Amino acid sequence: MRKFKSVEELINTLKPDYPVYCIRPDSIKKSVDFFKNKFPGTVLYAVKTNPHEKVLKSIISNGIDSFDVASLNEIQLIKKIMPSAKLYFMHTIKSRESIFESYFNYGVRNFALDSKDELMKILEITKGAKDLNLYVRISTSNEHAEIDLSRKFGASPSEALGLVRLCKEHGRKIGISFHVGSQCMHKVSFSKAINEIGNIIKKTKIIPDTINVGGGFPSIYPDLRPESLESYIEEIKKALKNLKLSKIPKILCEPGRALVAESGSTVVKVNLRKKQKLYINDGTYGTLFDAGVPNFILPTRMIQNGRVQSKKQTAFNLYGPTCDSLDYMKGPFLLPNNIKEGDYLELGQLGSYGLTFRTKFNGFYSNQIFELSDKPIMSMYDNSSKLDYLVA
Ligand SMILES: *Cc1c(COP(=O)(O)O)cnc(C)c1O
Repeated sequence: MRKFKSVEELINTLKPDYPVYCIRPDSIKKSVDFFKNKFPGTVLYAVKTNPHEKVLKSIISNGIDSFDVASLNEIQLIKKIMPSAKLYFMHTIKSRESIFESYFNYGVRNFALDSKDELMKILEITKGAKDLNLYVRISTSNEHAEIDLSRKFGASPSEALGLVRLCKEHGRKIGISFHVGSQCMHKVSFSKAINEIGNIIKKTKIIPDTINVGGGFPSIYPDLRPESLESYIEEIKKALKNLKLSKIPKILCEPGRALVAESGSTVVKVNLRKKQKLYINDGTYGTLFDAGVPNFILPTRMIQNGRVQSKKQTAFNLYGPTCDSLDYMKGPFLLPNNIKEGDYLELGQLGSYGLTFRTKFNGFYSNQIFELSDKPIMSMYDNSSKLDYLVA
């Protein structure tokens, strides 16, 4: 993979007419170091967030060897790169083939579920295996998250009691897991869910071998500035301590966004400006899905190209390259007032849920990916770049 020192060097060298994607391994090192040093348990990387080989290899080289996977393709991908990786099949609804292949051919022993039917399916396909680690995923409030997962997954409190008892009976080990929703803006969501696990423990008198607090740890965006990740981790530790368990379970987390969001960015060219509308060469069918209907406001900046950038900032809406009207990113994205056709913009925080969403719809697709050693536009792990952004 070709490397550049900065986005400016990349753009002024290539002057690309197609979107280009940046990966910053230094940024992955920072986030992985943070979680490895501060989180009181094992850190699993949620592979769906960004399965690019360069990203996976950076994560692995910084010391993560456990992965939250959701499909056979993700399992094969990780096993190819790291045969010794520990895999956790945390999708609660799996096909029969994927259960069979993962158990018999890839050595997967960790499986999540949120219904009795799924448990029965797992037991039937693994021929009543006695070496399963079964994770009951409970539903929990996603009220503070930007992306709500609770309508699709999770056992209700009453269902969870029965499932925990059944998994205790059939599994070698039992875990309880939850997901507070992606980009969770309030740490209290974690302690509420841990308290709910406390209620299940009291009612079933079963202490799980593992508690998995899931993903949902936030990144930073211009309009979403969460409390520090340290404070989330302190909240989790406090809630776990308050359970006052006679035996301390193993603790897992499955961050995706918080590990990789700021490591990736997309650089686009402006094809046309119509007043406050900028027509750019990547969109919601490319890496900008999250800026579409989910309406994430990404940090943006104009790339220095020798022209003076006006100090006055204007709020722009962005339009992607395809002929579809859903290919629209409302923003507002703040950019210099004098931006015009031919200028380049960098859109940040796309290391998560960016590259992996690209389609070839309408013939627009770029696979031009470069390694950068400069800093991301905004960071949760580096106070100085936050200030840079506020000053800029
Ligand atoms: C998507 C997902 C994650 C990662 O979520 P983030 O919000 O990106 O941290 C973790 N666990 C499971 C089960 C998921 O589906």
